[in-house]
Parts: sequence; C-alpha cells; structure tokens
Amino acid sequence: MKITGVKGMNDILPAAVGRWHEMERLAREVFHLYGYREVRTPAVEHAALFARGVGEATDIVNKEMYVFEDKGEELLALRPEGTAGTVRAFIEHGCHVEGLQKWFYIGPMFRRERPQKGRYRQFHQIGCEAFGAGQPAVDVEQIALLADLFSRLGVTTDLKLNSVGDAACRPAYLASLKGYLQGHAGALCADCRDRIERNPLRVLDCKVESCQPVLQGAPRLLDALCQGCKDHLGAVTSGLDALGVAYRLDPRLVRGLDYYTRTAYEFASDALGSQSAVAGGGRYDGLVETLGGQPTPGIGFALGQERLALILEAIGRAPPEQGPAVFFLSADEAGAKEALRRASQLRKLGIACDLDPRGGKMKTQFKQAERVGARYAVVLGGNEAASGEAKLKDLATREELPVRLDDLAERLRE
Ligand code: ATP
Ligand code: MG
Repeated sequence: MKITGVKGMNDILPAAVGRWHEMERLAREVFHLYGYREVRTPAVEHAALFARGVGEATDIVNKEMYVFEDKGEELLALRPEGTAGTVRAFIEHGCHVEGLQKWFYIGPMFRRERPQKGRYRQFHQIGCEAFGAGQPAVDVEQIALLADLFSRLGVTTDLKLNSVGDAACRPAYLASLKGYLQGHAGALCADCRDRIERNPLRVLDCKVESCQPVLQGAPRLLDALCQGCKDHLGAVTSGLDALGVAYRLDPRLVRGLDYYTRTAYEFASDALGSQSAVAGGGRYDGLVETLGGQPTPGIGFALGQERLALILEAIGRAPPEQGPAVFFLSADEAGAKEALRRASQLRKLGIACDLDPRGGKMKTQFKQAERVGARYAVVLGGNEAASGEAKLKDLATREELPVRLDDLAERLRE
C-alpha cells in the first residue's frame, strides 16, 4: 500500500529549499542587526498553555489545535503558534530579571485548518518577541525591522496599523460594538453571529462580502481609545514617519488572539491573492502575567514562511542552487579510486565537489555533472592517476584546459 503525506502538511524539496535558506539567512542577519537573539522551544506543549495564552474563544484553540492525550497521562498540543511557548520559556527560566529581552524563533506550527493556497496544517513561522519595555520605541523598532527584512528580500508589502486599545478603553468599546452587532445580527453571516458574544473584535475581520456594509458602519476602536492608547499610537506613527516606514491606519485590523493590547500590525502582499497577510504582530502587555509571570510588557510578530515563499516565487526571486565546483568522472577503476581520493582532499579544503559512484558511460556521468550544477568536470582514468595531469572542463563554455591535479584546489579558488 502506498502511504502519502498528511493532507495540508507539505514537503519542501531540494529544488525549492533555496528560497527558504535565503529568507532564513536574511532574517537571521536582520535580527542580529536589531539585537534579537534566537530561542528554540519544543513543538509540543501542555494544551492548557494555549487555552490560557492564546484564548479558548479563538478559532486557533477552539477549532484548529491538534490536541492529544499522551498515553492517558497529560493533555498535550502541537503548538499552533510560537508566542505562548516563548513566553512560557521566558517565565520558566526567570528571564525577566535580565531586563529587556529581544528573542526570535523559526519553526513549524500546526493548525487543523482547511488546506488551500497559503493555508496549511503544518506551516512555518519566523517570529520575534521583545519583552520588558512598554515604550512605543520598541514597536517602532520591531515594525521597522520587518520592513527592512522585506526590503532586503525585494518584496513589496502594505503595512496596516491599528490600536486595539487596552484594559482602560477596550471593555467600554466592546460593549458598544456588541450592542451594535446585536442590532444588525440579521445581516451578518453565521460565523459572525456566533462571534458576537465570544470574540466580537474578530467580527470586524470578517471577509464575507454580505457582512461588509454592517462592518463599515460599526463603531471604530480608533475613536474610542483612551488618552494613554492614543498617545502610544501617536508615538508609533511619528516614529515610523521619522524612519521613513510607510503604513496605513486600518481601524478594522484586529488580531485573532485575545492577549493583544494597543499596537496591532500586519504586512500584506498583492502577490498572495486571498490569503494576503504575510506577517502579523502586536503588543501583548498582559500576556506574561496571564501565564503566571511578573507583569512584563511585550510585543511580537509572526511571519508565515510558506506565504513568503509564494511571494518570492511570484516575483521570480530564486537564489540559484549552488552546485559543486567540480565533478569527477571516472574512465576506469583506477580513475574511480583517484576520484574518491581527490574529492576527499578538496572537501577537506572546503571545496564542494561530487562524483558519480556508479561509473559507467561518460555521457551519463556528464549528464549527472550537469544535473547537480557543477561548474567544472575532470575525467580521471589510470593515465591521469599515474601522471597527476588531467583536463579541467568548464561545463558552461565547454572549454578544456590542462591542470595538474595537485594544483586543482588553487585553480578552483581563482
Ligand atoms: P489568517 O488571517 O490568514 O488566518 P492568522 O491571523 O491566523 O492569519 P497569525 O496567527 O497572526 O495568522 O499568524 C501569522 C502569520 O502566519 C500569518 O500572517 C500567515 O502568514 C501565517 N499563517 C497563519 N496560519 C497559517 C496557515 N494555516 N498556513 C500557512 N501560513 C499561516
Ligand atoms: Mg488564521
């Protein structure tokens, strides 16, 4: 019986992995420039962490999480996002005493969503979290970091910005929003009606066409912010202006998660079609305390790597696969031995090389050399092994030049 991969969980094959390396390399480079350090946390956590840290009213926890009983002992979950586990690690290791901490992570996340383009059941996120500072300067720096990363990747994005308020102003706003939505429930889709009580902010995010007129008329959180939240937002926008980061205020931008306060932001790309969000983030000043830590402000984002890969593909940014510098072909048994010996020498010197262990027809070996993207080829047989002299063939120009095998490393370095 043929066993296939699990629906919504993708393979990334060698031909496509270059894009992933490119985005991760640039991300690490940018994180270093902005003082973010890497943390690695497990893919499995106690299910209760997400119920508390992400919120039981969210779709992520409510509908999409992979939960399992570990041999009847503990209720565990595959992490659906990276923030809760990162915060758990931050608290568990007492990191608040170290003051301001800026961390990043890269890894797989799991949500049982309906698979479609840009939406999968195992997907990967690159995320940042900054703990210990409530100042708008952290928000500005983090948003600028992400804008910087996209620009280095050659990706054009739209940045949307909003404030979701805080404990001082959001409750009153939610009450007025609920009242409004209840009054218009008849004109809303079933999902929205269901969310009015559970997660009314999320209704604002609904994409269903028939809901739009009601949502357009809804009271705006931007108009209901308390002075503290207004000042914070003002400082974020003027900070972004000063750094030349373009944004658009979007009063209907909400985050799907409960723990967000004040700043919410999202980067979207036209190259993606309907799943246009490539990264989303925001401030979560209440989260560390919610999960049992010292009150500690925080702000973070997560970027979807599959969606970024789709954009890089759409804009034709494909870093060339790096083939070996040289490929050894063997004409006979003595040549095959010599090929192994020379390849081992070059590899120790840090020069990538390859050979065809199957030997056989020259034509087939040359094909293999081209398939792996080698720059040069060297044919080795008994004569070459004995004399130490061979021909170095440029596979692009077909030009052949004599080479002493002992000088090969030096010639290839030129
Ligand atoms: P969406 O509204 O598209 O469902 P979300 O609000 O659930 O996004 P977040 O939880 O904020 O997304 O995750 C941040 C980013 O992770 C998203 O912008 C997206 O790029 C990516 N992402 C989220 N869910 C998936 C998924 N199921 N498959 C692939 N990428 C995803
Ligand atoms: Mg989602």
